[in-house]
Amino acid sequence: MDPTPKPGILDISPYVGGRSSVPGVAKAVKLSSNESPLGPSPKALAALDEAKASISLYPEGSGRMLREAIGEAFGLDPARIVTSGDGSDALLTMMANAFLQPGDECIFSEHAFLVYKIATLANSAVPVIVPEKTTNNAIKVDVDVLLAAVTPKTRMVYIANPNNPTGSYLNRDEMERLHKGLPENVLLVIDAAYGEYVTAKDYESGMEMVGRYPNVVMTRTFSKLYGLAGLRIGWMYASASVCDVINRIRGPFNTALMQQLVGIAALRDRDHFWAAVKHNNTWLPWITAEIRKTGLRVDDSAANFVLIHFPAPGAAGAKGNEEKKTAAKADAFLNQHGVILRPVINYGLPDCLRMTVGTEEQNRLAVSLLTQFMAA
Ligand SMILES: *Cc1c(COP(=O)(O)O)cnc(C)c1O
Repeated sequence: MDPTPKPGILDISPYVGGRSSVPGVAKAVKLSSNESPLGPSPKALAALDEAKASISLYPEGSGRMLREAIGEAFGLDPARIVTSGDGSDALLTMMANAFLQPGDECIFSEHAFLVYKIATLANSAVPVIVPEKTTNNAIKVDVDVLLAAVTPKTRMVYIANPNNPTGSYLNRDEMERLHKGLPENVLLVIDAAYGEYVTAKDYESGMEMVGRYPNVVMTRTFSKLYGLAGLRIGWMYASASVCDVINRIRGPFNTALMQQLVGIAALRDRDHFWAAVKHNNTWLPWITAEIRKTGLRVDDSAANFVLIHFPAPGAAGAKGNEEKKTAAKADAFLNQHGVILRPVINYGLPDCLRMTVGTEEQNRLAVSLLTQFMAA
């Protein structure tokens, strides 16, 4: 007989990342995983080179150097930071490992990041998935609907702000209202993987809230704006007592010295940081506007990707042409031409594709292919 895992684990659909190649295409344009088109800072690459000398030694166990650099960069207490050498995904998972018991409820929204469901089920806890609301050019978490789902069994709420794959965000007041409506014994985990990209003045990434409330945790990553997805560096900021809990269950050397040194160099290269922000501020609105010109709905995004809506197959009122313009057909057409976007069927969005902001050349190519596809 096969060994039996804990209840819930066999209900997990393993996470599948964005594709990175197309059969028959030598070098595909990968706009499927929200990686930075600028890549990492040259200073981070230099640090990677220097770090080579140290790989035969165990690192200091608590990620102290990186925590201190993060603390300095953001004005945070390094004692309230935990780093991860397996991305912020691992920290999001550890939150569930530490705080969810079998039967506990964990709330997140309909189109939330898939890791939340995996982490919940892995702890035999119950995912409570609440619908989002659709407004003009946005699909967004509905704070009231989310709060209405709270029961005495609720232990945790995950929210990505901004959310992937919708690109929408909740402003400071909405996040405060969400927090205010939660019982004190419920942890609010704010996943700010795209926080660096947001330019809206009414956005707060979660640092202020962690500073004020002991039941709020914020996670961040070096994978997106810093262009270091392959090196798997993440961190979280929380109360001293939540950090103490996570420090008891994390791997003893969970952030390699190489990861710490590269992370520190990336953090300190402000020129590269601002170049990445500027690039996104130029191309995100361009992509949004150009794709809208084809007649497709593109949602407003606060991050480094857009959600593109295609006509549903067999949609009411479809006159026949819609059948040729589905997300699946667009995906196939783009693939044939060497461009990979992200189908988001497993995020409950079967008629959408998500496109990451790429280099100027990649953006122009993807937009021109989408224009051709819609005109055909
Ligand atoms: C990319 C992403 C992350 C970051 O994952 P890492 O493990 O840090 O690479 C976290 N949350 C969301 C919503 C993401 O899209």
